[in-house]
Amino acid sequence: MSSIFSKIISGEIPCHKVAETDDFLAFLDINPNAKGHTLCIPKKEVDQLFDLDETTYNRLMAFSRTVARAMQKAIPCKRIGLTVIGLEVPHVHVHLIPLNTMEDAQFIKKEKLTSEDFQATATAISRFISIS
Ligand code: 5GP
Repeated sequence: MSSIFSKIISGEIPCHKVAETDDFLAFLDINPNAKGHTLCIPKKEVDQLFDLDETTYNRLMAFSRTVARAMQKAIPCKRIGLTVIGLEVPHVHVHLIPLNTMEDAQFIKKEKLTSEDFQATATAISRFISIS
């Protein structure tokens, strides 16, 4: 069975897209720790980060860095944190989270955003990304 993230890649489930290449997708987390919380995924469906082949792993990290640098420009925050968990969705994803306090990194405090907030945030981040 396809993961929920494969369904997002195929367009079966909608998302607020931040960036896309042939092999990777970045979109806003539906239940964000903080405004701008973004997930970066490989389109290839693999459960665990360290089971990715080395090339895909390195390219996912490079893609995540591009997205994080755009987030730094678009979202007022002290820094962008990077976390990998994967206990809920068995499809590799890198969490990029705008951090102001330690709580923002802890998945205990959630931000309620409207659909308009999500769309405006995705657009604001994507404006700073140019992927050739
Ligand atoms: P993890 O697997 O790292 O524990 O967490 C999975 C993350 O994916 C959670 O932060 C959750 O909010 C997010 N998530 C789960 N389902 C969806 C979805 O359908 N759309 C989006 N955009 N995010 C999701």
